[in-house]
Amino acid sequence: MKVLVVGGGIIGCATAYELAKAGCQVSVFERSTPGAEASSAAAGLLAPLGASNDTNFARLALASWRLYPDVVRELQERTRIDVEYVTRGTIYPMSVTGMSRDAEEWAINKDLGVEALEGADVQALEPALSPKIRHAIFVKGDHWLNNQRLVLAYAQAAAAVGVELNTGTNVSRLIVEGGKVRALVTEGGRVDGDVVLLAAGAWSAELMAPLGAPLRIEPRRGQMIALAHVPPVLTYCVHGEAYMAPRPSGELIVGATVERAGFQRAVTAEGIAGLLRAAIELVPSLRELPIARTWCGFRPWAPDSLPVLGPWPGVAGLFVATGHFRNGILLAPITARLLTEWITGKALSVDVPDFLPDRFLRVRSSPDRSTS
Ligand SMILES: Cc1cc2nc3c(=O)[nH]c(=O)nc-3n(C[C@H](O)[C@H](O)[C@H](O)COP(=O)(O)OP(=O)(O)OC[C@H]3O[C@@H](n4cnc5c(N)ncnc54)[C@H](O)[C@@H]3O)c2cc1C
Repeated sequence: MKVLVVGGGIIGCATAYELAKAGCQVSVFERSTPGAEASSAAAGLLAPLGASNDTNFARLALASWRLYPDVVRELQERTRIDVEYVTRGTIYPMSVTGMSRDAEEWAINKDLGVEALEGADVQALEPALSPKIRHAIFVKGDHWLNNQRLVLAYAQAAAAVGVELNTGTNVSRLIVEGGKVRALVTEGGRVDGDVVLLAAGAWSAELMAPLGAPLRIEPRRGQMIALAHVPPVLTYCVHGEAYMAPRPSGELIVGATVERAGFQRAVTAEGIAGLLRAAIELVPSLRELPIARTWCGFRPWAPDSLPVLGPWPGVAGLFVATGHFRNGILLAPITARLLTEWITGKALSVDVPDFLPDRFLRVRSSPDRSTS
């Protein structure tokens, strides 16, 4: 079976890799370079819960989180790329009133190692935290990694198992004939395939509109800062109004804004000031650290803030994997597995009713979901 993947972000590369391992002939079409957009802009947090718990989304996130140790091992063996996988855990500073309710809600996921910290125990764990923080939740199972390296590892592993990577190749159109997707069009002409997987991130709606397909995906801009973190101030990830993730390579990643700013590729004074203010409030000694770099990226967001996974109704052979919003790095392994199962006709390993694209044929909306 010939599968054409539009988009070489983490979702396109991870799925191409799994499809090729399952025996498909796969070509990826990426208009820039692998991971050029949101997948490189991210912080790389693998935090499956945030404040939500017993939902289909949490189950999907947890399923993906569980795949990560094997994914990291497999990619490392195949590519020798070190993705800086850190398994130390995250401290969530809490207000006094939020404390007991949150501890209770989070405790249901015992395999994540959730623990409530009070008083001096907070600073005993992470001495750099402000002494004003007297209550916190520690989630030992929250992990993080270097997402820039991860997407390159997936792309390299995909190429190693036979995926054809067409970089610098824009897809301008999908061709649907007789109710079936037949091909896509690039500057080089028409490319025929049996299946098209649309994994074009925040740009995914653009190729669907000409087909009259109401996929609603919009960009949500995120601004980020890397501080030079030598010698390190933090051991753990800290996640309050801003989050801070220490990377082994010597950077402290501080993020992130969530903004409706279209595709304006700009880092703003307000965005950066807000992140630094929130970070310094939690960890006062950060004020001394040099700013190494700043950047922004565009998260793919659907109106209900949930991923969009599966076959597009009414067009045989057309599949969608987008809308991962704040969790696309975390969700990449399970997305790749599910789409491979769908495309190769296997039973699905996770229940996905909330994420099917057919919901766009109904009308629904809810507020933005949180984490990264
Ligand atoms: C600031 C920020 C912080 C984040 N932090 C986290 C985090 O800590 N943890 C987490 O799990 N997630 C995080 N995310 C979310 C995560 O980055 C995204 O959900 C994920 O990267 C989406 O992956 P994707 O492959 O769908 O999109 P992208 O990475 O954007 O890839 C889509 C690709 O498609 C290509 N493309 C688009 N149109 C075409 C076309 N017509 N032809 C050819 N190519 C095309 C683009 O060039 C792009 O490379 C963060 C995002 C941002 C912006």
